[in-house]
Amino acid sequence: MRGPDRESLKQSLQRRRRLILEASRRTSADIDALRGAERDPEVEEASQSEQEQSKLAEVGEVEHREIAQIDAALARIDAGTYGVCRECGEEIEAKRLEAVPYAATCADCADRKERLAVATRLTRS
Ligand SMILES: [Zn+2]
Repeated sequence: MRGPDRESLKQSLQRRRRLILEASRRTSADIDALRGAERDPEVEEASQSEQEQSKLAEVGEVEHREIAQIDAALARIDAGTYGVCRECGEEIEAKRLEAVPYAATCADCADRKERLAVATRLTRS
């Protein structure tokens, strides 16, 4: 990948990372507001904070996964391996990178993995 593209790519990944963090902070604030309205003074402090933590973990999981993928993509840009499929070593399609800038595999490998996951689920059940 050429130099200038690399910088703008990093910037757009970092921007996306920030947006996810902001969105997840807003969601936490919403949950807090909701909980404040529902707060029952009879409920024990301990059980309340337990509930709080499990809800926040739920909200954060998707965001954390996406942020981890973005971080991995940023690391690949620095390492010079960005845009190369982790599975087969072929270049990832430009179209795919446009849609999923932190994609670590090409469309073929992603499809294969998805089919494999489905097959695994089917044989397990
Ligand atoms: Zn591949």
